[in-house]
Amino acid sequence: NLYNMVQDLKGNIRVYCRIRPAFSAEAKNVVDFIGEDGSLVVLDPLKPQKDGRKNFQFNRVFGPTATQEEIFKDTQPLIRSVMDGYNVCIFAYGQTGSGKTHTMCGPSGGSTKDMGINYLALNDLFQLSNKRTDTVKYDIHVQMVEIYNEQNRLSVFHFICWPDFVFLTAHKLEIRSCDSGPSVPDATMHSVKSTSDVLSLMKLGEVNRVVSSTAINNQSSRSHSILTVLVHGKDVSGSIIRSCLHLVDLAGSERVAKSEVTGDGLKEAQYINKSLSCLGDVIAALAQKSSYIPYRNSKLTLLLQNSLGGHAKTLMFAHVSPEADSFGETISTLKFAQRAS
Ligand code: ADP
Ligand code: MG
Repeated sequence: NLYNMVQDLKGNIRVYCRIRPAFSAEAKNVVDFIGEDGSLVVLDPLKPQKDGRKNFQFNRVFGPTATQEEIFKDTQPLIRSVMDGYNVCIFAYGQTGSGKTHTMCGPSGGSTKDMGINYLALNDLFQLSNKRTDTVKYDIHVQMVEIYNEQNRLSVFHFICWPDFVFLTAHKLEIRSCDSGPSVPDATMHSVKSTSDVLSLMKLGEVNRVVSSTAINNQSSRSHSILTVLVHGKDVSGSIIRSCLHLVDLAGSERVAKSEVTGDGLKEAQYINKSLSCLGDVIAALAQKSSYIPYRNSKLTLLLQNSLGGHAKTLMFAHVSPEADSFGETISTLKFAQRAS
């Protein structure tokens, strides 16, 4: 319909910034101002007030007191459009320790309090599908995949063998193209019927992530964790809805050649993880409505191709820490995110 066409022409990338609470009250805080309209001002701890102020603009900024529920409330419409046939991709971007996993999964330790987007999204999808049983019959499958160490060309995909995960080792899986787009056909696809199915799956996923990252001697902060939800619906008239939702906890965005330099000096620094710079290139090309989108430059962007650009809807959460000693990484995260919006 016309409304959706107009939306598509406008492009469908939204960028939210989330600032996590400071770990210690004594630490110097670089956040100067958070606007209702998505503006953010940070203050360079090494520069005097006036020229140390840096302005950024996003679709929304969530401060340190924002709850998981508030975050989800703004994400929910996007999740719901998956049920109407849109492909959706939600990313958590930011340096290690900035709160990516907190946003996507919730606090570590497996408590069911403060659950993150992954759980809340699936929960919502189940509720919607139960409400619509008279008109549409949905099947929901999930798949969990990790991409490791792309910069060494050693791309190991690791998946969750569930329920017999005990025998798990790190597997190298291939991305293949099929009718519905790039996918990882050899990774197990799990049919899920309820939120408790998803909870047990995610618990095993957490265990597997620890086990396998030890096995291949890698830090989980270097890998991208992708939870893919495949929705298949059939309505009373027989027409089919097919869509997917990628929920992505990206590798830490910190860079090498970390020096004393902050702000502009960091332009020279390199990503530890090559696929993050490829992701930045793809998102920037989409934001500029470029005719060539370099999806094939990394496994990550190749796999997510169908939910980036085109009719898909993309949401990026740029995570930053409020502490002064993270200022350099905070600026590069904010610049990365600004490039997308
Ligand atoms: P990342 O995944 O980016 O490395 P984490 O999500 O693990 O970062 O967050 C680092 C630490 O900060 C964790 O102990 C996490 O529980 C805590 N944390 C992050 N964001 C928040 C938040 N919004 N509220 C409370 N604690 C948070
Ligand atoms: Mg994490």
